[in-house]
Amino acid sequence: MNPAGALARVALLLTLVAAPALSADPLVVYSARNEQLIKPLFDRYTRETGIEVRFTTADAAVLIERIAAEGRNSPADILMTVDAGELWRATERGLLRPLQSRVLADNIPAHLRDPEGRWFGLSMRARTLAYDPRKVDAASLSTYEALAEPRWKGKLCLRTSKKVYNQSLVAMLIAQQGEARTEQVVRGWIANLAAPVFANDTQLLEAIAAGQCEVGIVNTYYLGRILKDRPEFPVKLYWANQGSGGVHVNISGAGVVTTSRQPAAAQRFLEWLSAGEAQRFFAAVNAEYPANPAVGLDPLVAGWGTFESSQINLGKAGTLQPQAVRLMDRAGYR
Ligand code: FE
Repeated sequence: MNPAGALARVALLLTLVAAPALSADPLVVYSARNEQLIKPLFDRYTRETGIEVRFTTADAAVLIERIAAEGRNSPADILMTVDAGELWRATERGLLRPLQSRVLADNIPAHLRDPEGRWFGLSMRARTLAYDPRKVDAASLSTYEALAEPRWKGKLCLRTSKKVYNQSLVAMLIAQQGEARTEQVVRGWIANLAAPVFANDTQLLEAIAAGQCEVGIVNTYYLGRILKDRPEFPVKLYWANQGSGGVHVNISGAGVVTTSRQPAAAQRFLEWLSAGEAQRFFAAVNAEYPANPAVGLDPLVAGWGTFESSQINLGKAGTLQPQAVRLMDRAGYR
């Protein structure tokens, strides 16, 4: 290479390296969503805008405590979690600020965001019935409540009630059907258990495949993760409560931290995540549903068919969470 060519090359490299540094301060995301589900997207935002996105991952409860403890010195601009119940907990502590965003209001359906604009769903996850088609006729399935009937005695498997996903599910059942009816249902589930509660949804799905249980309740993306490696995995999904309230859905979502020193830049980042290719990737990378209904589905997810989902605002998963936890405890759901 001649000297002029080498110089041009050095200049080009300098431009590439310098581009992010010329722009705004880095955005800092505290994320309960795993690194492999967010990093490619954050890198892409940096390539498109020159704005660096730094992140730290931990359980939502840990991140919430950290933001609270850091107070005005917190470096966090955005809190991202995998359940509306956790975002609600953050709002209870005053850690998320209300946003006025036409873009987010247009892109994210009302039931998947805080009515006061403090958090927004970025992907939707469905928690529905999974069953063993070798033993269960799909026609015998219908609703979450029906799994409390005596016909399922010794056949049902559940994940622990300590997981926020089940706290949110029970909270939403309370919102739909009232506390007394929900308690009856949860007691019926416990009476029907085929095995002690599982630590996670993947173990539950494996137990169905192994013949330990015939039916359970899971987030669909856990089956998606298994099916990507083992397409013959012998467990099927059933869309619960069609015509009676819809499938329980939750979100992976985010809000702008109250003490953020660059709330406008943080809001623009959330707006970018709520549309187009970013929104498609955010859902597809984990076999979830885009929160923005205009965005297409991952082919594996599309193959599970369409369903009616609950339209109750997910804020209820938060406000009714303490009641749900007490109810599950009374009913012996460990
Ligand atoms: Fe999960």
